[in-house]
Amino acid sequence: MPDYPELLTPDSLESPLLPSGDEAHLPKARPTFKQWTSEFEGDTYGNKPIVDMDREPMFAELAILKLLQKDGWDGVWVDTFSRKYRTAWGREGLVRLTGERLGLLKSINQRADSASGCFDVYCWREDGVLFAESKRASKDRIRETQLRWLEAALRVGLEPSSFLVVEWHFSGSSLETNKSVGKQVGRPNPLSQSSVAGRARIVRGLDAEPEEKASPSPPYESLEVFFDAYDIDAHDKFLKWRERNWRGYVISRRSPSDGMLHQVDCGHFEHGDKSVSLTRTMKVCSRDRGDLESWARENMGRGLKRCRSCM
Ligand SMILES: [Zn+2]
Repeated sequence: MPDYPELLTPDSLESPLLPSGDEAHLPKARPTFKQWTSEFEGDTYGNKPIVDMDREPMFAELAILKLLQKDGWDGVWVDTFSRKYRTAWGREGLVRLTGERLGLLKSINQRADSASGCFDVYCWREDGVLFAESKRASKDRIRETQLRWLEAALRVGLEPSSFLVVEWHFSGSSLETNKSVGKQVGRPNPLSQSSVAGRARIVRGLDAEPEEKASPSPPYESLEVFFDAYDIDAHDKFLKWRERNWRGYVISRRSPSDGMLHQVDCGHFEHGDKSVSLTRTMKVCSRDRGDLESWARENMGRGLKRCRSCM
């Protein structure tokens, strides 16, 4: 049994029914987070709630990661939305997993026959690993893909104590309780450029410097994302990917709730004006249509349409 940061100390069990019919019994913590109340200009990944953590805005997953890091854990947020491993927002927060860290994820994915469903936060320490799932109380539930993933993780030998369900809620008022995050009530600092650099650029335009070049290992191994806001060479890379994968599929994602599935050779990707980047709109690509569709289900809800000229 790992020891936990005070805010993430379990006080109950979550007992989801696994696909096999067995019940899992996972430790559950129920922290209170403070809501970010100032303006927020970054990409909210389709209206995800923003937590005020030590006066910095962040998603709950990153708040959970930060609490664990303060407690001596090392780890990442498995950001299935942009398909990256992150320790923070922005390009400085992108990391690559290697060796046994990546190896464990791969063996779970193999067992689950899918890379989706991984818990949000993956942490490790000398004495073990911890997967934490962020759930907003009464808003989120553990999804089917996550149950499949969880069962696979237990089958590869992880103990239920290596998982933590974090069912959090926002404090009802702006007053602090002694269990909530943040030091005192006050006027929050304006957004620091560094904390949201990568995300903010998506709405501010593409004039800022490109996100890091190294491509982190993606949670969905078969998917590739090409997006100017992440990579200044995205357009060229997208064209090359098309050449190599001429029978593949592409989601053109305009916003978290608006995307269209195309075949890679769709006329929509032939454009006259060569100065216009095709990847100003995020392109999520795969040879496997099923993988793309499950990515869309998980990250776009019902926002995926099918192109009428090619599909
Ligand atoms: Zn099309």
